[in-house]
Amino acid sequence: MSLFDAPKPVRVEIKGHELHCVICRHNGFHRHQAKLERAGLFTSDWMDPRAICYECDHCGYLHWFMPQ
Ligand SMILES: [Zn+2]
Repeated sequence: MSLFDAPKPVRVEIKGHELHCVICRHNGFHRHQAKLERAGLFTSDWMDPRAICYECDHCGYLHWFMPQ
């Protein structure tokens, strides 16, 4: 069961490369934006607390990206 309510998986491309799950090689993901400080993961001053994560539709692994 997903932590998030996002029923429709999407394909993701990162700088011209299609994203495949590092665990199961699936290519359908659910996109989420998270504030890391509210999630309790990071509190560094230099880091933008917002991040994008893609949840694998197959195994649930989260792939995190910082905005560029
Ligand atoms: Zn996966």
